[in-house]
Amino acid sequence: METLANIARELLAAGTVQTVIGYGHGSGEAALTRTHTQTQARAVFIRDVAKAGSLIFDASCQQNLAVYLMKPEVRRLGKAALVATPAALRTILQLAAENQVSDHDLLALAVNGQGEVALLATLAAIEAHVAALDNDLKPGEIAELQKYAALDLEQRRQFWEEQFSRCLKCYACRGACPLCYCSRCTVECNQPQWIPVPAHDLGNLEWNVMRAMHLAGRCVNCGDCSRACPVGIPLHLLNQKLISEVLDNFDSRSGMAAKADNAMSTFKPDDPEDFIR
Ligand code: SF4
Ligand code: SF4
Repeated sequence: METLANIARELLAAGTVQTVIGYGHGSGEAALTRTHTQTQARAVFIRDVAKAGSLIFDASCQQNLAVYLMKPEVRRLGKAALVATPAALRTILQLAAENQVSDHDLLALAVNGQGEVALLATLAAIEAHVAALDNDLKPGEIAELQKYAALDLEQRRQFWEEQFSRCLKCYACRGACPLCYCSRCTVECNQPQWIPVPAHDLGNLEWNVMRAMHLAGRCVNCGDCSRACPVGIPLHLLNQKLISEVLDNFDSRSGMAAKADNAMSTFKPDDPEDFIR
């Protein structure tokens, strides 16, 4: 991945960015996981030109690295160049539409499965790049949704009750999601306490439905919440169902423009609630 490393070196040497957020080799050897069997990759934060050669991009690089753009400790490092898959590019645009990032914060190094890298220096350039991609649900995803759509309401209830009964309330799905960025989540509020803290059937249902609805019209289908879930709950089915409903009913697709209204939620920079800014 010499092209990627060279671009990273140039950006760091010129001071265009202070950090390159990308992928490096993980510590596992051909780790076997629930979702894939490739050697694991991990996020790396390159700040030294001499270390740019450790950047990789291959089929094991699935994490949506845009999740780090919202971490205060990463933001303090200065402007970042983000190695971005198509889902990460859409996340950047969605975050921009929610007034969370701007051209001052980042640029994107768009990567694809062919080993190509495109330097996208502005949100406008990211928008143009994303517009040329296939942003529809994949045929396999549509087929899986149709399978569950064929269930009647009682069967669907039973399916999700069984799935959510295994939820540990570990919140790994929330931690992995680049669009779950509130500094204080509803589940941690106890006055009033909307969602019970222990993992039990009713609280698990409330937690998972609440999270899915907070992401409705915002989720970019990166899949990181499903990949993060230690008990294999197919959260992507909920997300993709909502993506499909929002598209059908509101003709709206998240993460396509840096200035856009959300189909299912509103946001005001002057909101009196501190946690939401
Ligand atoms: S809800 Fe899941 S699929 Fe959607 S943006 Fe968050 S992590 Fe990605
Ligand atoms: S990652 Fe899975 S087990 Fe953990 S809170 Fe989310 S749905 Fe529940």
